Order: sequence, then structure tokens, then C-alpha cells
Amino acid sequence: MLNSYSGWAAAATGFMLANDLLIVTGALVGSSGAILSYIMCRAMNRHFLAVILGGFGESVGSSSKSVSDQQVIAISHDESAQLLRDADSVVIVPGYGMAVAHAQQPVSELTKVLRSKNIDVRFAIHPVAGRMPGHMNVLLAEAKVPYDIVLEMDEINDDLPDTDVVLVIGANDIVNPSAQEDPDGPIAGMPVLEVWKSNATIVLKRSMATGYAGVDNPLFYRDKTKMLFGDAKDSMDKVLSALK
Ligand code: NDP
Repeated sequence: MLNSYSGWAAAATGFMLANDLLIVTGALVGSSGAILSYIMCRAMNRHFLAVILGGFGESVGSSSKSVSDQQVIAISHDESAQLLRDADSVVIVPGYGMAVAHAQQPVSELTKVLRSKNIDVRFAIHPVAGRMPGHMNVLLAEAKVPYDIVLEMDEINDDLPDTDVVLVIGANDIVNPSAQEDPDGPIAGMPVLEVWKSNATIVLKRSMATGYAGVDNPLFYRDKTKMLFGDAKDSMDKVLSALK
């Protein structure tokens, strides 16, 4: 939205200075920013005006109070490696934490190792994963993850119930079941990756902290979810060496 505003401000300046180039470039930046904002709003199921006037995480949904008393199941690096070794199909869900930890290189390495063991590995990319459009795609491309195994949310969501292990690497809001289950929550209606439907989910993050939206995530407390606490790069390196 701010990018869009800067474009419109430049176009307005162009009118004041009678500068055609400034008007055209300002209008291009303004309209492309507005189109992108519209696409992002649809991906988050939020109204344009709510994004301009409001913010995420200001009011916390009812689910957060009920889930925070529950226990989580922690898993070790060796146990994670064992789960992956025993799997036939693995889906990796990268999020903002993978970018912060710079974990894309070991993730790519892990993909190679698993595929060499004839395990089907694919990536599930949520449209608003990370902090900018295409954030995860760029990082995975840099780390030389093959394009054909990187799928969009709509392409892979239906396959998750048949997946043996889902590896959630530094993602939180984009895998939050309360988007579907808590109609009063701040992220109600946001499309999410339904990782809780898989046979097992391993979540890599450092703590029980919330993500960008500031809401607790009931996924972490589910029976089939295991928490691998620590920095994502460090954890990935340790799982990789346990696998090798
Ligand atoms: P989230 O912000 O929901 O969650 C990121 C998680 O990463 C945190 O819970 C954090 O947990 C963990 N993390 C942070 N650092 C590390 C680390 N070094 N190692 C391991 N884990 C780490 O990210 P998502 O990608 O799931 O969702 C994106 C959010 O950003 C959505 O709410 C979206 O609406 C919003 N957004 C997206 C934009 C886009 O263009 N893509 C733009 C603006 C907002 P912990 O601290 O416990 O480690």
C-alpha cells in the first residue's frame, strides 16, 4: 500500500511540475502497488479498507486463551531424522523464520538427501508466506531447489492428508487451523495450508512465540504435531547430519 501511495504522490508531483515522465512513472508505480495490494488482500481474506485502517494482532481471538494452557510435544533432531527416513512422502512448508535463519541452503541439501533415498519431497508455498510476495520462491530458487517440486497452496492442499511428514520451517500464521476453526479470530477466513491433516507435522521454530498476526496457533498443541525448537538453520544442519 505504501509503495502504491508513493507512486500516486509522484504522479501528483508530476502534474504540479507539468512533467509527463513523472506522471507516467508515478501512475505505473501507484497502480501496480494497488493491484498487488488487492491480490495480497484476497490471499489473506481481508478487506482493502481493513488493511488501510486497521492492523493484525490488535485483538486476539478466543482460541488463543484456550490453547495456551495445553502441552506441546518436543522432538529431537535424531527423532526428526528418523521420521523423515521412514516417510514415503514429505512436504516442506517454508515461512518467514526460514528467511530469518537463512536456512534455505540446508533445506535444499535436505531435499537432495531425501530424494536420493527415493522419498517424494515437495514444497508448499502460501501466497503470503514470508514478508513480501514471492519471498519463499526467491529463496528456494537461490538455493537451487528444482522448480517442479515447488507448488502453490491450491496445488498441494488436497494432497496433505496423504502426506507422511510435513516439515514446517519457520512458518506460523500460514498453517494456523484457527483461520478455519475460530470464526471470531483475527485471521478467520484466511486460506491456510492444512498441514494438520497429514500423518505427522514437525514444526521448526525457536519458541512458542506468535507470528506476524499475533495469534496463538492450535496446530502446535495437536497430537500429530512435534515441535523441533531452535534456530531453523541450526536445526536443519543437525537433522541433515543425523540423516547422513
Ligand atoms: P509468521 O510471521 O506467521 O511466523 C514466522 C515464525 O518464524 C515465527 O512464529 C517465529 O517463531 C519463527 N522464526 C523466526 N525466526 C526464526 C528462526 N531464526 N528460526 C526458526 N524459526 C524462526 O510467518 P509466516 O511466513 O507463517 O506468515 C507470514 C505472515 O506475514 C502472514 O501473517 C502474512 O499475512 C504476513 N505478511 C506477509 C507479507 C507478504 O508479502 N508475504 C507482507 C506483510 C505481512 P519463533 O520466534 O518462536 O522462532
